[in-house]
Amino acid sequence: MTVKYIESCKLPTPFGIFDMHGFEDGESDKEHVVLTMGDFDGEEPVLARVHSECLTGDGLFSLRCDCGAQLQAALHKIAQQGRGAIFYLRQEGRGIGLLNKIRAYHLQDAGADTVEANEALGFGADLRRYDMLKPMMAHFGIQSLRIMTNNPRKIEALREIGIDVTERLPHETGRNPHNAKYLETKKGKLGHMLDSE
Ligand SMILES: [Zn+2]
Repeated sequence: MTVKYIESCKLPTPFGIFDMHGFEDGESDKEHVVLTMGDFDGEEPVLARVHSECLTGDGLFSLRCDCGAQLQAALHKIAQQGRGAIFYLRQEGRGIGLLNKIRAYHLQDAGADTVEANEALGFGADLRRYDMLKPMMAHFGIQSLRIMTNNPRKIEALREIGIDVTERLPHETGRNPHNAKYLETKKGKLGHMLDSE
């Protein structure tokens, strides 16, 4: 596996002080980070979020999706419990990259949904990969996860590569009038487990 640990530092946030760990992914040439709190000794499953980068939602306050709210809720929950990890994977736009995401948003402005837009650009609905997580988890000695997600495909993908997911914690937050259609598509076409309408 071509994932290399580089270095760690403190990362104070409004939610608490995390440790940030940097990794180099030789396969995709991406730089991933993991935010952790607490220690992972012992066999108790680790509260975790596997979060794929969304510059617009995480960093630019976009209401087109629910990523920023989900990231904040995960940071908050981990800080409350004092133990957990956020695997922040640099695969923007479900893996199509930032500029293609802008192209996809442009098509969505004209009425396409998120899956139709990706497909119109010649991409699959979801190109994210998770295999880099195995060596990253091994670095921390993490054996199993209690994962905060609404995405059953993510859990399936993690299990397929041999990651032990002991529990799914529903992670629904950040619904607003601008992302209602997006969330409906996630539910209808991508099988996300979303309750509130
Ligand atoms: Zn997003």
